[in-house]
Parts: sequence; structure tokens; C-alpha cells
Amino acid sequence: LFVDLPLSDGVRVPLDGPQAHYLARVMRVAPGDAVILCDNRTGEWLASVVETGKRDVVLSVERQLRHREAVPDFWLCPALLKKDRFDMVLEKATELGVAAIHPVVTRRCVADKLNPDRARTIVTEAAEQCARTALPEVHEPVKLDTLLCDWPGDRLLFFADEEGGEPAAEAFAFAKFPERGEGLHKAALLVGPEGGFDDGEREAIRAIPQARPISLGPRILRGETAALAGTTLWMGLAGD
Ligand code: SAM
Repeated sequence: LFVDLPLSDGVRVPLDGPQAHYLARVMRVAPGDAVILCDNRTGEWLASVVETGKRDVVLSVERQLRHREAVPDFWLCPALLKKDRFDMVLEKATELGVAAIHPVVTRRCVADKLNPDRARTIVTEAAEQCARTALPEVHEPVKLDTLLCDWPGDRLLFFADEEGGEPAAEAFAFAKFPERGEGLHKAALLVGPEGGFDDGEREAIRAIPQARPISLGPRILRGETAALAGTTLWMGLAGD
């Protein structure tokens, strides 16, 4: 379980709300039972149940199991998609190990907002399920031109372009290995919405010096497919 307080040996962790309900009612924990906690700062800790009440559960932290993972500095910048499809992007990107998700609003987006609490729940549950010890940041959706203006100079912006770009595997490999590429380990993948980017947006993206248009093959993929295929490719090369 991810808890929002720094963990260390002997710390008492009072849980209430959904987490207490999950432990007490679903997992039916009893005093002495072991629970694994993460604080998204130091890493993963073994804790044991001290007491369970009607609405709360108190745990006592025993020892650290794992340090917080080193997260490849990769941002996924997916255009907002219809709710269930974007939920899938949040969940799978978390499982794949991204550092941050920057949702983008483009002119052809069908959806234009994201429920932050729902997004946080999806990402946290995905991280707990795949035993990550770090939560990816999930940012507020921003308009494409806001995302692009003062784009960080040390971060490559791979732009998933179904109208033609360098094969992603080559572009990513080139960037990952300093002796061959620009040696930039910071990267981002920008993916369009159901209707794609319009010409003006495409031009604005390509005008960014760090932008690298990449192709994910000859077929037209759904936005969520392109986002997750590109992320998988990059994280595979990151070899974390
Ligand atoms: N323009 C597409 C069309 O005419 O049907 C629709 C966009 S596609 C559904 C959604 C996004 O996925 C695109 O904007 C692009 O970022 C990405 N994408 C889809 N296929 C791709 C491919 N083969 N290579 C790279 N990116 C792709």
C-alpha cells in the first residue's frame, strides 16, 4: 500500500478510509499480520498490524525491504483520449515504469479534462499491483502549445507521427547510447488523439529543436496503442 507519510523503523501508521476498509474488510487482517507499505520517498517497508478498529487500522513499521526504484527519466505526453482508453494509458504507463505522465489537450481531442483523483487512484493501484516502489507523477492536462513552449533543452521530444518519422527503435537506440547518439537520457513521447494532430500542431511540434518524429510502423495505431508501444520500446532500451 502507498501511504502518504515518510516511513522508517518503528513508525506507527494509522490508516483510515479506503485503505483501512481494504485491510480490515477485504483482507481481514488481524494483529500481527504483515503488510507491505511504500511511501514514494524511501522505498518499501515491512509493517505489521497492531490493531484493527471499525474504521481504522494501525500498523507498525518493522524494516525496509527495498529502496525506492531508480526510475528512467521518461515522460509520456499522451493527448487526452476517451475516459476508458485514457484510464488504460494511465494504468499501463505506470506498470511500464514511466517517471511522469503529462496529459495534453490538442485541437482534435474528444476529451478535454481529467479527473485528478480518479487518475491518482488508477496510478496508485497499478503501482501497487506491479510492486513499483515509486509512483509516476500525473500532471494536470495542458494545451499542446503550453507543453511545447520552453520545452526543456536537455530532454528529447519523440513525436509519434503516423505520417512518417524515423523508425522508433533506431531513434530510441541512437538517443540511449551516448557513444552513438546525443547521449540524452531524458526523453518524452508525445502521442496524438483519436483524430491525430492537425497541420498547425504538427508544424509547431517539428519546430521544437529537441523534437524527433518517430514511426511505430506502417499501420495507424490507436492513441493508447501508440503511447504504450512507444513506452515499451523506450523502457526496454532503458533496461532498468
Ligand atoms: N491521424 C490518424 C488517422 O488518420 O486515422 C489518427 C491518429 S491515431 C488514431 C492517434 C495517434 O497515434 C497519432 O496522432 C500518432 O501520434 C499515433 N500513431 C498512430 N499510428 C502511428 C504510427 N504508425 N507511428 C507513429 N505514431 C502513430
